[in-house]
Formats: sequence, C-alpha cells, structure tokens
Amino acid sequence: MLFTIHDLIQLFPNTKGNIVNSTTIQSVSTDSRKKMVDALFVPIIGENFDGHDYLAEAISHGAIAALWDNETEIPASIPNGFPLLLVDDTIKALQQLSQYYRRKINPLVIGITGSNGKTTTKDLVGQILKTTFKTHVTKGNFNNHIGLPLTVLSMPRDTEMLVLEMGMNHAGEMTLLANIAEPDVAIITNIGESHIEYLGSRENIAKAKLEILSGLKKNGLLIIDGDEPLLSRNFISYQKIGIGTTEKADVLLKDIKLTNKGTTFTINDQTYQIPLYGIHHAKNASFAIVLGEHLNLDEHMIKKALQQPHMTDMRFEMLKGINGVTLINDAYNASPTSMKASIDVINQLQGYKEKVLVLGDMFELGTEKEEWHRSIAHVIDEEINALFTIGDYAHMIADEVNKQGKQISCYQVKSINTFLKQIRPYVHKDALILFKASRGMRLEDWMEKL
Ligand code: ATP
Ligand code: MG
Repeated sequence: MLFTIHDLIQLFPNTKGNIVNSTTIQSVSTDSRKKMVDALFVPIIGENFDGHDYLAEAISHGAIAALWDNETEIPASIPNGFPLLLVDDTIKALQQLSQYYRRKINPLVIGITGSNGKTTTKDLVGQILKTTFKTHVTKGNFNNHIGLPLTVLSMPRDTEMLVLEMGMNHAGEMTLLANIAEPDVAIITNIGESHIEYLGSRENIAKAKLEILSGLKKNGLLIIDGDEPLLSRNFISYQKIGIGTTEKADVLLKDIKLTNKGTTFTINDQTYQIPLYGIHHAKNASFAIVLGEHLNLDEHMIKKALQQPHMTDMRFEMLKGINGVTLINDAYNASPTSMKASIDVINQLQGYKEKVLVLGDMFELGTEKEEWHRSIAHVIDEEINALFTIGDYAHMIADEVNKQGKQISCYQVKSINTFLKQIRPYVHKDALILFKASRGMRLEDWMEKL
C-alpha cells in the first residue's frame, strides 16, 4: 500500500465522488494503456494528448481514484461517484505527492546528475547497493519532472536506498527535482555540452547541475568529477569528494588500463575491473565505489557487484553481427564529450584489423553546432579505417578529418541501402564498428538492418 485516500485528502482536499477514507492506493500511473493495481490515475495534459480523455480506459485497467484538473469537465461516461481529487495542475500535484511519499518512506536518497554518465552511474550504484540494502533504482531513463516523481512513487515501502537519475534541459529544472528528491547524497558525473542550446555556456551548465544543492541535505555528501575546473570550489555545509585523474582530486583514480574485457583501475589502493570501456566509465564506477566505501560496504562485495553490472541498453553495448563482426551499439545518445569518450575507447581497443565509425548528428548544440561537429575529428586516430557519417551535420566531422590529411576512408551516407552496400567490405570477424549519434537519429535501426 502506498497510501490511503485519507492521506491524499490531506494534500488535495477538494474532491468529487464517493470518498471512502480507508480506500488504499497500491500504485500511481499516468499511462491508461497499461494494467494497474488499485491505482491512482494521474492524467497528464501533453502536446498531443490529454490524459483526462482516457480515464474510462484507466478505470478498466485498475484505477480506483484519479487526480483531476479543476478546469476539465468530467465526462458523462465516468461511473457515478468515482473518486476524483481536484487540483490546479496534475503534474504539480504528482510532484507534490511524490515529495510527500519520499518523506514518508524516508530512505537514503542518492541523486545522480551530470551531462553524461547518469544512467551508467545509477546502474552501477544500484548494483553495489543491492548487495546489502533494499534498493530502488530509476528504471531506464525516467529522470525528468514526470519520470522522477513516478520513480519515487514506485518505490516499495520497505526501500532503504533510493537511487534517482536526475535530468534537465533548462535552468531551474534541477531545483524542482532536487526539492522533490531531497537527496542525502548528490553525484555530479561531469559537465559536458549537452543542452548547451538552452543553457548558453558550459558555465551555465555547471550552474544548472549545481542546483542539486538546493535539495541536498545539510552536511550531505557531494561526489563530483574532480577533474572539472567548473566544479572545483569550496562547498560549505556539504562534505565534498572530487574523484579525478590529477593530483588535485580528493580521491585519485589511477592505473587506468583498457583490456579486451573492459577497464581496470586503482582507487584508494584497491584495483577494480569493470566490463565497460574507457576512463569515463572508470570514473562512473569510482563514484559508485566511493559511495559504497562511505556506507562501509565490503570491498570484495563491491568488486563482485561491478563485475556483472546490469546496464541499461544501447550504452556501448558490444554485440556480434553477421560474419562475426563486432558491433558496438552506443546509439542511445551523443554529445561532443560522450562521442569523444567513445571514439577514444575505439582508438585504444586492441585485437581488430579494421575499425569503423558510424557517426550521426548531435542535437541541441546551438549556434556553434558546426564547430562542435568538427571538433570530433581531433580525437579520430589513424587507427580508424573508415568513417561513415549520417545526417545534416555529421559530414563536417569527415570534412575536418580530410583537412587534417588523415588516411581514413570517409563516406557521407544518403540512404540506408547505399550504407549497407558501402559498409559490406568492413563486415568481417576481425572488424569493429561503432554506432553513435543523438537519440533522434535512431542509429540503432541502421545497426539492426546491418
Ligand atoms: P541522458 O542525458 O541521455 O540520460 P546519461 O547522462 O544518462 O545520458 P549515459 O546513458 O550513462 O548518460 O551515457 C551516455 C553516453 O555518454 C555513453 O554511451 C558514453 O559514451 C558517455 N559517457 C558516459 N559516462 C561519461 C562520463 N563520465 N563522461 C563523459 N562521457 C560519458
Ligand atoms: Mg540517462
């Protein structure tokens, strides 16, 4: 049971229908298409649909009460007496309800933000904490002003640790999420360029991530990228641990080595191995390790948990394709920082006779998008044999590679059929092919076709 209608009325006293105080709510849902168990249905007014039109469907799927926008007429098809809680704004009410539930259950909350690496870090943190605590973790990428409240409201009552991914595109959004989550621990994975179109500069991006402090408990723990100058300042009233690869970090991450099974690294005199590739992932894992140590978890348990992480799909997922070719599906999303990090790993991976990059456009980069695309060329080593570019801007990467005089075969792809023909010679068991672009490019479809 999440709560009773009686609890709800304390928050939303304006009601319609037969309200039975003892009615218990087992779940909260915004999706009328899915089965729900004794649920509170929360209709959301979106760009294309209005959830209020789907109450009857929600009832048929198990809704026993609903939030309801004051200004929306109640359709005649709704059963007489169906309990409705009238509110000014159903999204705000959902957020208010999740804040109430977070306080009621009161687990230790770990809030994870940053430009890149949030999902990976929350998966790693979740994996470590699950060894010892009843842990609830954000599913997939449910990290925004609706996803985060729904994540909070889906935590079981006996949750001890709540691991929340917190995402934002605009200034002010993190403050809202932080005030719902009220984290005991905040992790800022890095400052990149994602959403620079809306935020203007890296400085503003850093500021927007640091809004997480507005909800962080006093004396709470702040774990950050210790290599990022924009985060290197004093944090009064918080305990700060900066993890980085240079001496100025509070905790030093060293001896990072790429192997064919992943990455090994040393932190606090312990060596760890993870089945993920690259310095950036060693750092993500280190955030999780330092948190585990802070909570006095056994280091052997931490090591074991990190060896079999259950990662969310499409994050540098290595697969075998036709003719035994190695395909890397990193197509979930891309920004300049994350694209460079992935290419750097490809540069270093050993044991392949040919290496191919299939790169698509990166979105939301504002007026300097051309320069950002061109900047990718600087990390492409001559280790790489071929570069396929897809979209309106990605070909600038190839243009820059050519300007630099690198011996790399470049293909500007116009259609999936030509792509399949052109890439054929590279599809063999000694080849490695990386797919990376922003979400909207859906590059995984191209990989699947191959
Ligand atoms: P989104 O904002 O889309 O939710 P996210 O922050 O959750 O992204 P992930 O999904 O964990 O990030 O990783 C996305 C990509 O970013 C990875 O495939 C990888 O290429 C890159 N990446 C992951 N961690 C880091 C990091 N610490 N620094 C730079 N790049 C990273
Ligand atoms: Mg994510």
